[in-house]
Amino acid sequence: MSFTTSPLRLNSKLPRVGTTIFAVMSKLAQECGAINLSQGFPDFPIDEKLSDLVNTAMRAGHNQYAPMPGLPALREAIASKVERLYRFSYDVDTEVTVTAGGTQAIFTALGAVVQPGDEVIIVDPAYDCYSPTVELFGGKPVHVRLGSDMKFDADAVKAAITPRTRMLMINTPHNPAGTILRDADMKRIADMLRGTDIILLSDEVYEHLVFDGEPHASAINYPELRERAFVIFSFGKVFHTTGWKMGYALAPKELMTEFRKVHQFNVFSANTPIQHALAEYMKEPMNYENVPRFYEDKRDRFVIGMRTSRFEPLVCEGSYFQLADYSRISDEPDIEFAKRVTREFGVAAIPISPFYKNAPADQRILRFCFAKQDETLDNAIEKLCAI
Ligand code: GLN
Repeated sequence: MSFTTSPLRLNSKLPRVGTTIFAVMSKLAQECGAINLSQGFPDFPIDEKLSDLVNTAMRAGHNQYAPMPGLPALREAIASKVERLYRFSYDVDTEVTVTAGGTQAIFTALGAVVQPGDEVIIVDPAYDCYSPTVELFGGKPVHVRLGSDMKFDADAVKAAITPRTRMLMINTPHNPAGTILRDADMKRIADMLRGTDIILLSDEVYEHLVFDGEPHASAINYPELRERAFVIFSFGKVFHTTGWKMGYALAPKELMTEFRKVHQFNVFSANTPIQHALAEYMKEPMNYENVPRFYEDKRDRFVIGMRTSRFEPLVCEGSYFQLADYSRISDEPDIEFAKRVTREFGVAAIPISPFYKNAPADQRILRFCFAKQDETLDNAIEKLCAI
């Protein structure tokens, strides 16, 4: 049995949106048996201590709804980690909310504050959920671009501000660019927002993946920014558990009150046994302090390995993504090229044009995820060097 022609007239809320490139490329990688350096997720096991903690929590009977804003013990663990790293204490009861991943936190923050006609500034290439989510809530995405070398262009962002700007979305370390915001960038952002009612959404899900000894310039470090910001984090990136879909949002009480009004009717609360496990696991700073070094080594392994290829790596300062220019290999548009490399050479990567409203026509860049076992990276490098 199948449906016949539908009698429903459907007026799509997202007429220009198809299936996310992450799902498309991971599916193609699987169908072709290719090494999957496309969608960002680790291919190595998680710390057994962490999975044991989840099992213990389930066996102890922690299997029903957690409190709506998150388990108090986890919110406390989050607040103390944030205080330790960024020397600011968010109120555990009113300013910290545990979410079902970073994407849900972004969706919820936008849902809480964006009204029809509000403008939201998005810096392209931007993570692919930003723009459609703004549109779903009736907002108008205003796209500006990163500057040369995929660095933040404060002048371009400032020029996009109008009296209708409701929010500025920033992301550091940046996905897919792999660049970071520095102190000077954050100060420029503080300057341009001063005296406005613009809310900042600072997507910091890769906070621990900052390399070469640079500090992570969190919005939390800047009083003028944090007092108007939703700052969003992900446990998946830090503890190698992207499939758990766990994250959190921090914001001043007034903003968080609005956030929770949406959160409670969206997911209500996040996974209970995992919250118990994370609360315990986070008490040991070593569990996140080693992350930068761990991924810096992987970045170096991948970049050094690619030296003999015809790809030209761009600068990667953070995240687990390495951009590489392929103009020496082909003039094909990036989606076509990425699919062909997957099929013919057995390595899947992410084309970056889907992260733009209007991608530069002559840009020939793919994004490779290096959150992989050394052996996976070495096998992928061998194949990429043969192109
Ligand atoms: N954040 C992951 C990436 O950038 C993908 C997450 C997803 O598939 N939605 O690759």
